[in-house]
Amino acid sequence: MSTVIVRRPTRRVLVGHVAVGGGAPVVVQSMTNTDTADIAGTVEQVRELWRAGSELVRITVNTEEAARAVPVIRERLDAAGCDVPLVGDFHFNGHRLLKAVPECAEALAKLRINPGNVGRGAKRDEQFATLIEAAARHGKAVRIGVNWGSLDQELLARMMDDNARLAKPREPDEVMRHALIASALDSATRAEALGLPGDRIILSCKLSGVQDLIKVYRDLAARCDYALHLGLTEAGMGSKGIVASTAALAVLLQEGIGDTIRVSLTPRPGESRATEVQVAQEILQTMGIRSFTPLVTACPGCGRTTSTVFQELAQNIQTWLRTQMPAWRERYPGVETMNVAVMGCVVNGPGESKHANVGISLPGTNETPVAPVYVDGEKTVTLKGDRIAEEFQAIVEDYVQRTYGNG
Ligand code: SF4
Repeated sequence: MSTVIVRRPTRRVLVGHVAVGGGAPVVVQSMTNTDTADIAGTVEQVRELWRAGSELVRITVNTEEAARAVPVIRERLDAAGCDVPLVGDFHFNGHRLLKAVPECAEALAKLRINPGNVGRGAKRDEQFATLIEAAARHGKAVRIGVNWGSLDQELLARMMDDNARLAKPREPDEVMRHALIASALDSATRAEALGLPGDRIILSCKLSGVQDLIKVYRDLAARCDYALHLGLTEAGMGSKGIVASTAALAVLLQEGIGDTIRVSLTPRPGESRATEVQVAQEILQTMGIRSFTPLVTACPGCGRTTSTVFQELAQNIQTWLRTQMPAWRERYPGVETMNVAVMGCVVNGPGESKHANVGISLPGTNETPVAPVYVDGEKTVTLKGDRIAEEFQAIVEDYVQRTYGNG
């Protein structure tokens, strides 16, 4: 699928072997929720996120045990053939941890530093410098990640005071947005002055409100050419988190803003952490920005479908396609752009099926119990009986082998 979105020019940052910004494809990233000191658990979850398609994985580095675990985690991932670059998330004590465990910085591809959480008063500059100098010494990238929940309160108070002295003071939420951007840009300027090149700096300014996030990133993008990490913080759980993240990210991505994205979903109890990777991929794919896995177009169903056959077929085919992708990605290049349609009746079924690479139109209520299949717009076979699902899957598999097998 082609797209007319023009990406905003940014500096290209290498995070391990993954390029972010500078025209590179928008990178999908995620974060573990394991205790990093739990080496086996963290390795397992990083691998799960990587298998789902996360191109960078962030892990918390909050204690000395966690910092000491990082090089071991890196080693075990490498031994398992998982080369996903790791990002270390530092707050409050990062300066101490990196001094005590320099191997931690060496094992990471990027450090995430929150300027609001690196220390207070006179210590802040010194501790920020320690973190930046560690990144520069080890040749690592840094994300300066500002978050409105931990915005530098001294900076905000100063900007609020300055605002109060204006003849026409701005609204407090506007001052807060400006403070977020100022915190990110001032920190980036300081980082460069401390010796970290601009092409190792990625910025983010996260908020949890969709409209606020859009305003902040538009402003930030207009004021710098640093690569930008995009994400709605604390998006929430289930459909709310998905919808809010999609609403915010889609507007910005459409304007060419954003070089790497993370969808910050709260997993439901027992839900895989990898859901956030799938959602991030689907945002990019449904917008025509990148393709990751064949997608299924399915109608919502209505009073013309009285059974759940087509719902089950749509779900099973989508799940099956997704589970094939780790093997298919290398064997069938281009297969990720394939579109499969599963439709519930003849009203829109044949038409939509013709637009897909492979489509099936199942019989609706009172229709003849047959299911015409279309391949590249042509009707090739009509399925009937109890094995429609299996036969349709075999047709899709055959199409994949024939179409993408010689890539
Ligand atoms: S294609 Fe048929 S079953 Fe599906 S929503 Fe349209 S009318 Fe209803």
